[in-house]
Amino acid sequence: MTHKVQQYIGGEFVDSSSTHWLEVTNPATNEVIAQVPCATESEMNAAITDASQTFKQWKEVAAPERARLMLRYQHLLKEHHDDIAILLSSETGKTLADAKGDVWRGIEVVEQAANICSSMMGETVENVATNIDGYSYIQPLGVCAGITPFNFPAMIPLWMFPMAIACGNTFILKPSEQVPLTAMKLAQLFEKAGAPKGVLQIVHGKKEQVDRILTEPSVRAISFVGSVSVGEYIYKTGTDNLKRVQSFAGAKNHMVIMPDANKNQVISNLVGASVGAAGQRCMAISVAVFIGESKQWIPELQEQLSHIHPGAWDDERAGYGPLISAQAKQRVLDLIDEGKASGAHCLLDGSACEVEGHPNGNWVGPTLFSQVTTKMSIYQQEIFGPVLLTIEVDSLDEAIELVNANPYGNGTSIFTASGAAARKYQHNIEVGNVGINVSIPVPLPFFSFTGWKGSFYGDLHAYGKQAVRFYTETKTVTARWFDDDIPSGPNMTIQFR
Ligand code: NAD
Repeated sequence: MTHKVQQYIGGEFVDSSSTHWLEVTNPATNEVIAQVPCATESEMNAAITDASQTFKQWKEVAAPERARLMLRYQHLLKEHHDDIAILLSSETGKTLADAKGDVWRGIEVVEQAANICSSMMGETVENVATNIDGYSYIQPLGVCAGITPFNFPAMIPLWMFPMAIACGNTFILKPSEQVPLTAMKLAQLFEKAGAPKGVLQIVHGKKEQVDRILTEPSVRAISFVGSVSVGEYIYKTGTDNLKRVQSFAGAKNHMVIMPDANKNQVISNLVGASVGAAGQRCMAISVAVFIGESKQWIPELQEQLSHIHPGAWDDERAGYGPLISAQAKQRVLDLIDEGKASGAHCLLDGSACEVEGHPNGNWVGPTLFSQVTTKMSIYQQEIFGPVLLTIEVDSLDEAIELVNANPYGNGTSIFTASGAAARKYQHNIEVGNVGINVSIPVPLPFFSFTGWKGSFYGDLHAYGKQAVRFYTETKTVTARWFDDDIPSGPNMTIQFR
């Protein structure tokens, strides 16, 4: 019998009584590996009510205790790093090395959450008026919720719930229905680390369950990561329901290549950043902008890409895994066809890719286009597959103009030997995460992940200091204490002029 995924409600791993179940498949074979429920109304109500009740107690737990929970959790996640990665590979198809990276980047956020006492320090000013002090506290909001995508089943939930819970909130997670297994494993380890019942709840489902969260008055803040159209919907609906919302959406990331860059570094970084994880990273490089003579490197890029082959997660020779679903594969194949029809030169075509021993997997081989223009749909849409576009320009100014005209602003990088060019790029580029000779510049968690423009709706970003602001309220106190033994007025010795 197929494994039926449980939910985590009221501190218990519970079977769902839903009549609506979805299939979780292994993307390398399309075999069903589990069934995930769409939570019933009463299960959603139970999770929301329990999160609200638990908040009243959890917010009173001393901040160092909340931090110690994160220290224990970090230790357990490290101990189970490989088991989580294998489970994650089984549902996403990611290669083991890639899956380990997914888990590790999440562990780093848990480490940041363990620093919560210093991140939640308020401010003080003594004597804001005579014998009156002013100070502020940072206090938790209440029930927060997270809605996460398929492509980083460990890292993205870990961007959210450890920070929110360390701040003193309770949290409802609705993981991607395509990859629910990793989230459940994260919850098991959280419980083992000593998390009190009810601080984290996990419910499954799709739009109906998300809508319940979006319209629930007791949910104060929503963190979303996913596609453009859903990201817009979540931001609009959540704010319409007077919630705080941070919504991380799609991307079209450019790497700009100066002719003075190190050619070997450029090519190996472009290969890894474009087709790694089958291009299913929100920070994947999908457009390479070659300035001037650097375009001569395109044939070598093509040659190196042609040696990369997808494969199953446990195949050590695999450069990357399958696309998440047959539907996702078809979408990418349709875009490749559109690219060819629109006049771009398809230098490498991965449409007819096969992987020995896995005839039914969602494989797409490395695909490379040149002569791409900004009018083409392959440029305008996020492809989210192992497809790299190249564009040639004459100057850094032209490259900056091109990148800034793109509606997305998640990540970008410049490869150059010139400090002046790099500085000009970092200063002028309208993108939130910038790499200098670093192809995938995902910030470490003591910073925040700061996508811009169409890649992010909201004000405060993920993890780091911004997440603490997002998941908390500031309370400002103005205080005066009367003491009959102490004269209330000052003994003025200083005269202002
Ligand atoms: P998705 O938008 O299809 O799903 C994300 C979540 O939203 C899932 O939990 C899903 O159940 C839910 N959902 C789907 N349709 C919904 C609807 N109509 N109403 C309410 N909720 C709905 O995204 P995905 O395919 O899982 O993830 C890939 C996308 O995520 C890509 O576009 C990628 O760029 C983006 N992404 C962005 C970042 C970032 O930091 N900007 C990071 C990772 C992924």
